[in-house]
Amino acid sequence: MTGATSGSYLAAHALLPGGVVARDVRIDVEAGVIVGVRRDAAPGEMTRLDGVVLPGFANVHSHAFHRALRGRTHAGGGTFWTWREGMYAVAERLDPDRYYRLARATYAEMVLAGYTAVGEFHYVHHEAGGVPYADPNAMAGALIQAAADAGIRLTLLDTCYLSAGVDGAPLTGPQLRFGDRDADRWAERLRALIAATPPGRARIGAAIHSVRAVPRAALPTVVRAAENLPLHVHLSEQRAENHACLAAYGCTPTELLAGAGALTPRTTAVHATHLTAGDVATLGAAGVHAGICPTTERDLADGIGPARALLDAGAVLGLGSDQHAVIDGFEEARGLEMDERLVTGKRGRFRPGELLDALTDHAALGRSAAGLRAGAPADLVVVRTDTPRTAGADPAQIVLAATAADIGTVLVGGEVVVRDGVHRIGDVGRLLADAIEDAWPR
Ligand SMILES: [Zn+2]
Repeated sequence: MTGATSGSYLAAHALLPGGVVARDVRIDVEAGVIVGVRRDAAPGEMTRLDGVVLPGFANVHSHAFHRALRGRTHAGGGTFWTWREGMYAVAERLDPDRYYRLARATYAEMVLAGYTAVGEFHYVHHEAGGVPYADPNAMAGALIQAAADAGIRLTLLDTCYLSAGVDGAPLTGPQLRFGDRDADRWAERLRALIAATPPGRARIGAAIHSVRAVPRAALPTVVRAAENLPLHVHLSEQRAENHACLAAYGCTPTELLAGAGALTPRTTAVHATHLTAGDVATLGAAGVHAGICPTTERDLADGIGPARALLDAGAVLGLGSDQHAVIDGFEEARGLEMDERLVTGKRGRFRPGELLDALTDHAALGRSAAGLRAGAPADLVVVRTDTPRTAGADPAQIVLAATAADIGTVLVGGEVVVRDGVHRIGDVGRLLADAIEDAWPR
């Protein structure tokens, strides 16, 4: 990143640790890190931040190329299969250049929406047909460059994807490029990616695509390779996955992962939708992160997961925009609460501070906790309080009122990446339109 990373700011309102929203908060930043936060600051030589300043949001689950599907899978109503056909059509056409342009625009859209870190669940590794590129991590390299140019912190979750079903059916057709043939070859490619990536450029983590795509016998290899890394896994997104797992192994996907040692505080269970009470207890006791993706789960008719029960059981909640039908962290955070209201018939299932905690779960991405306090990265999101949507709202409840369009300025590591709603790389709508047109078959 380039540009100034030091300065002093006066926030009209700011969310302080403990969930308190205070007025006139001075935030001092040096070399990209917050060095001081003071309440009731007097005006002086400071840059004013008008609105409510929040810590940067963490998007714990992304497949960047799915952004090309937004608004294109609903013809005739659209089924899950309409969506999946489209997803494979786009996946087949990706190459490192095309993926770079699509991911750069998608990540820029995320920063406009207040996300300052993203976890990319990356599985399009090889050329169509499954042949490795000359650099076997060329696609990961494209994503790393895209994130750097868009000004977002990237945790690249290199995904192991070996089979088409719990029965071990081989990958075919468009899925061939997702696979490394066996877990040892995947682990070898992961080690090469870690060796080639300086930590300041991107964090590298690992992922088990799902219990469908990684057979039980391969799980220990993945768990060993992911020692000390963030480890993400799609878990029980659809009931069909649970049924297939029970039929093949006589246990739920959560039990299978627990048995393989895959559930630790470094683990993020993505979706965690269709769980038994025992699964909830197991995930909570292991202290995993639950990466809930409310706008995707409703778009794909997945269902509503037990987010409140997971939090109560000891899990940490995070939020992801996953397939990017929507890129709006406020909408994801509200989704947690609104879905619970519909399921339980009760309001106030989460406090606004709990929703913001879920929206800023940087630990799921192997990063230090966000917050407006000394020592934290200077990732600041300024939410305007004077728009038609936010006017009149209590700043302490802004998460229940604001949308991504209400974000004015975003600093990442003390550097202004978005100023007054404009990203430093220019017209993100135009960049998205061009990249998406190029991503679809003509
Ligand atoms: Zn996903």
